[in-house]
Amino acid sequence: VQSYYQVSLNIEIDQPKLVGDVEADVCIIGGGYTGLSTALYLVKEGVNVLLLESNKLASGASGANGGQVSGGMRRDQFYLEKTLGVDYAKALWEIGEKSKYHAKDLIDKYQIKCDYKKGIAHPNHKQKYCEESQRYVDHMNKNYDYHDIVYLSDNEMRDVTGSNTYYGGSYDEGEAHCHPLNYALGIAKAAISAGAKIYENSPALSYKVNDDHVKVITKEGSIKAARVVLACNGYLGNLEKSLTSKILPMNNYIVATKPLDSQTIKKINPRDIAFADSRFVINYFRLSADKRLLFGGGENYSQELSKN
Ligand SMILES: Cc1cc2nc3c(=O)[nH]c(=O)nc-3n(C[C@H](O)[C@H](O)[C@H](O)COP(=O)(O)OP(=O)(O)OC[C@H]3O[C@@H](n4cnc5c(N)ncnc54)[C@H](O)[C@@H]3O)c2cc1C
Repeated sequence: VQSYYQVSLNIEIDQPKLVGDVEADVCIIGGGYTGLSTALYLVKEGVNVLLLESNKLASGASGANGGQVSGGMRRDQFYLEKTLGVDYAKALWEIGEKSKYHAKDLIDKYQIKCDYKKGIAHPNHKQKYCEESQRYVDHMNKNYDYHDIVYLSDNEMRDVTGSNTYYGGSYDEGEAHCHPLNYALGIAKAAISAGAKIYENSPALSYKVNDDHVKVITKEGSIKAARVVLACNGYLGNLEKSLTSKILPMNNYIVATKPLDSQTIKKINPRDIAFADSRFVINYFRLSADKRLLFGGGENYSQELSKN
C-alpha cells in the first residue's frame, strides 16, 4: 500500500542501483533531508559526491512526516533558558530560525512545488496551559523581537479549529507546512541536476575507515571516498555499532481522510493552517492541497515499521 504522500507525488525520480567499484570525494549514506541537502551543498561547492539510499529516496522520515516547518527546538525557550542559560537558548533559537528560512530558500531557489503554506497554531488541550502560552508569546515578542507569534483566546482558537476540545494557545505565522515528500524530492532533483551521483536500492552494508580513505561496501559494489557522511537517522541499524544501542525506535502515525467538502473545511480549518497541540505525544493536523485532513499522532515503540 502506498502512503498519501506517495500517491500525490509530483516528481518522479528513479536512480540506478550501485553496481561495481567507484570513487568519490564524499560518500553520503542515507537519502532523506540530511543526506540530500548535504549532497546538494557539497556538489555546489564542486565536491564529487555520491549518495547511497537503501530504498527509494526519502523513504524514511523525510517522506512521511507531518510537513510542519516549525521554529525553535523540541523544547520551548522557557525550558531552554532555564536549563542552558539565556545565551545558549538564544543561539539555539537562531538555529531554528535559520532552518525555517533555509527550507523556504531552497523551495524558492529550486522552485520546489510542495504546497508550502504559512502558519501553525498551537492549541492547548488543557486550560491550565493558557496562561503560560500567553506569557510565552509576550516573552518572544519582547525578548526575542519575534513578532510572528500571537496569542489566540479560547474563542479565537475554537474559530480556527472548529473544535470545543481546545482552549487558547499561540499562532505562529513564521512557521509553515508543506508536502514533505515533494520537498525532499525537489532537493534531490536539484542535487542530481548539479551533478550529485545518487544510487537507490543500494544499502550500505558496512564501512571501514582507513588511513587515507573510507571504504563503503554495498551488495553489488563499493565506494572509495575521502570522507563518509552517515545520514541514516533511526534506520542506522548496525552500520555504526557504537550507536546501535542508543537508538530508541518510535513509530508515529498519520491518517489521510477523503477530500473534505467546502463547508467542513470552513468549519475545521478556514485559514488552511497547520496545528500542533499541547499533548506530550502531539496531535498534529492540517489540510493537504486536495483538502484531505491529514491527522497525525499516537506512538508505539517497536522495531516493526508500518508498511504504509
Ligand atoms: C511521523 C513523523 C512525523 C514527523 N513530523 C515532522 C514535522 O511535522 N516537522 C518536522 O520538522 N519534523 C518532523 N518529523 C521529523 C523529520 O521527519 C525528521 O527529523 C527528518 O525527516 C530526518 O531526516 P533525515 O534525512 O535525517 O532522516 P530520514 O529521512 O529518515 O532518512 C534516512 C535515510 O537513510 C536511509 N538509510 C538508512 N540506513 C541506510 C543504509 N545502510 N544505506 C543506505 N541508506 C540507508 C533510509 O532508508 C532513509 O531514507 C517527523 C517524523 C516522523 C516519523
